[in-house]
Amino acid sequence: MSFLEIFREMTYGPAPESSEAVKGWLDQHNRRFGLFIDNRWVYPENASYLASHDPATGELLAETIQAGKAEVDAAVASARAAFETWRSTPGNVRARYLYAIARNVQKHHRLLAVLESMDNGKPLRESRDIDVPLLSRHFYYHAGWAQLAEKELPDFQPVGVVGQIIPWNFPLLMLAWKIAPAIALGNTVVLKPASYTRLSALLFAEIVAEAGLPPGVINVITGSSKAGSMIVEHPDVDKIAFTGSTEVGRTLRRQTAGSGKRLSLELGGKSPFIVFDDADLDGAIEGVVDAIWFNQGQVCCAGSRLLVQENIADTFIEKLKKRMGKLRVGDPLDKAIDMGAIVDKTQWETVDGWVKRGVQEGGSLFQPDIPLPTQGLFYPPTLITGLDPAAETVQQEIFGPVLVSLTFRTPAEAVALANNTRYGLAASVWSDNINLALDVASKVKAGTVWVNSTNLFDAASGFGGYRESGFGREGGKEGLFEYLRPVWQERPCPRLDAEEKENASWCAAVPPGPITPNGKGSRQAAATDELPRVDRTPKLYIGGKQARPDGAYTRAILGARGNLIGQVGEGNRKDIRNAVEAAHAAHTAKPGWAMRHGHNRAQILYYIGENLDARFDEFATRIAAMTGKSMKSSRGEVGLAADRLFTYAAWADKYGGTVQETTLRGVTLAVNEPVGVIGIACPDHDPLLAFVSLMAPAIARGNTVVMIPSEKYPLSAVDFYQVLDTSDVPAGVVNIVTGNRDHLVKTLVDHEDVDAIWYFGSALGSYHVEHRSAANMKRTWVNYGIERDWHKPDQGEGHEFLMEATQVKNIWVPTGE
Ligand code: NAP
Repeated sequence: MSFLEIFREMTYGPAPESSEAVKGWLDQHNRRFGLFIDNRWVYPENASYLASHDPATGELLAETIQAGKAEVDAAVASARAAFETWRSTPGNVRARYLYAIARNVQKHHRLLAVLESMDNGKPLRESRDIDVPLLSRHFYYHAGWAQLAEKELPDFQPVGVVGQIIPWNFPLLMLAWKIAPAIALGNTVVLKPASYTRLSALLFAEIVAEAGLPPGVINVITGSSKAGSMIVEHPDVDKIAFTGSTEVGRTLRRQTAGSGKRLSLELGGKSPFIVFDDADLDGAIEGVVDAIWFNQGQVCCAGSRLLVQENIADTFIEKLKKRMGKLRVGDPLDKAIDMGAIVDKTQWETVDGWVKRGVQEGGSLFQPDIPLPTQGLFYPPTLITGLDPAAETVQQEIFGPVLVSLTFRTPAEAVALANNTRYGLAASVWSDNINLALDVASKVKAGTVWVNSTNLFDAASGFGGYRESGFGREGGKEGLFEYLRPVWQERPCPRLDAEEKENASWCAAVPPGPITPNGKGSRQAAATDELPRVDRTPKLYIGGKQARPDGAYTRAILGARGNLIGQVGEGNRKDIRNAVEAAHAAHTAKPGWAMRHGHNRAQILYYIGENLDARFDEFATRIAAMTGKSMKSSRGEVGLAADRLFTYAAWADKYGGTVQETTLRGVTLAVNEPVGVIGIACPDHDPLLAFVSLMAPAIARGNTVVMIPSEKYPLSAVDFYQVLDTSDVPAGVVNIVTGNRDHLVKTLVDHEDVDAIWYFGSALGSYHVEHRSAANMKRTWVNYGIERDWHKPDQGEGHEFLMEATQVKNIWVPTGE
């Protein structure tokens, strides 16, 4: 093409990046890579290899090892050997290592970017300008936390050896999200990249060794999902950090259940992209392009569900189709390309299968008439309109360049549609009315919400999901706690064998015992003027009312000397369901408990504390009678319980969130939202104190709760509902169901309207709670059968509780003209 023609046509010419440096690096390794263990390349004898291909050309890039058990063991042993030294390396020294890694990444910026594009198929524009800059940014940011952690987080220690498993869509970025916080805080790592994209993690390992990181702190092993599974099961791994599909996340939840291993899951999504009629439509169109065609739509938080206000829908879709016709799909190494190749043939076929399904489901398909390379795994930008909100194509994650579009009329309908998904990873809201945009942002259930923007990421802002998009955050201060545990707590290692786990009696309904004579009645009493005490029949407490147990059974409660000291209702599944319904209603009412000001919640908690204090002796006497503790010790328990209520009244308006210092020109608001409805099973130890220590942080932070009090000593909890009744607690905020703890908790775990379970019971119960929670990926907090000392402030209150009672939502709001 001549210059004159170029000026006349104004079309893009080819602008290819050279692949020579990458090829040189691959050749240096003879295109065969070992495993990176202990800062050395390890080539096991008789290893089998997997070929890596460039998805744009089909060219063979290199072969990498399929690690087996011996290799996984060696990598874990190396991380374990490095752990003690690394955790006790001063923070400022660790900071220098992270800083050196960040600098080294920058030195090899171009090599990393080109390799990433060749291995994954993503446009170089993205790997060069987004993936690699964010990789170094994460190490710089966390170098800062390494420097500060000793002073800023003195109550926490590293978790230990961490197994990290990442997907193929952002190999370097996912690695950065996981490795940087882990090693900053003194953990050591075994990382397994995804099989489609193994090479950039191996180059990164070399860069790390070049930066002088001590051997064993970072180990990278390649292998199939079986190797991943071996890391998950390895007894010497203390935590698993996983990013990938919800289905594999579910498997990992079940596999790690009851083991005491920490788990964070960053899973799939089907994120809404909401456009109101007053939005800057041209800006929103560019937003859609970034939301769904960035990285060929292979993005967990891709804005793959377009929701457009009905009155502008036709105009918007028309503009969008026009814009799609201008997208350039082709060689990922061409710097002027919008979309590169799909990572692998299987993935290409899955995407194509979904598009066909969308058409079968009644959708209208639009794919622009643009040139696609004739070879390689390229897929056109795709739009499907006219689908039913319940269509599978609308509900399921497609993980490719496919956008589905729906319409709405009102903001309330937009929120309802946005939340009509099992996922909750991200959302984009477009409106020039900032009040409306922020209101919708607060109502959408997602871990990240971008206002008039999309797909913004930064190390200073945590990323992670609600619901089936997983739990845990990566980035920001909130992300640090995934790699820390309280100083007082060692890793709980319950060793339940398969037979114990299968023990069906775990949650079997136990028939209430026979009536136990209390031995108090006497002939003399009947003959005197003394009136017998009026019988008190404690019931359950549901929706602000005392409720008789559905099964009409009562459980006798014996005192420390074996005498009958009271009775409580024997709750059953129906009672739990009623309690959840009441808790859910209190949560979603307008305005619900969560929508009340912190000041108002604080007032109510103070009031509960005041009313408990007013009945101090009565509660102390009850504890002494139930447990056999001395009156002095029982008084101590009541006093501390009242104090805890005051502590969380204080926290009710002091844990709202922060403004994150991201690279955005604008504000990134980290909001500590309530989790929702929390089911709480209390321990037997310190029955009043533990009950209050668990209930108070949950309700202080806007959650509503279903409490299962101590099974053995439930009477203080049923006495407590009279305190609640006189303290202005709205109906349904606290519900109390007495009975067999494990039988009741089973119904709570299985309930779709319960968002989290806190379980303080047996090791077996902890296993089952974690295992069953995988069905809808509830957040869980269990004690693995290990008692904590509720009297000690570091164990009985504080940040651990507040963090469990909240989930961080990051709302990004760009500012400026
Ligand atoms: P995937 O199939 O779940 O695989 C993810 C990783 O897990 C890979 O390394 C894979 O190894 C490994 N793996 C598979 N089965 C395993 C098992 N049973 N035990 C242990 N490890 C196992 O997901 P993907 O297809 O690679 O990635 C796409 C998914 O990731 C999408 O759902 C996307 O939304 C999600 N994602 C989420 C985020 C987030 O932050 N929430 C970010 C990016 C991606 P092999 O590759 O060897 O099979």
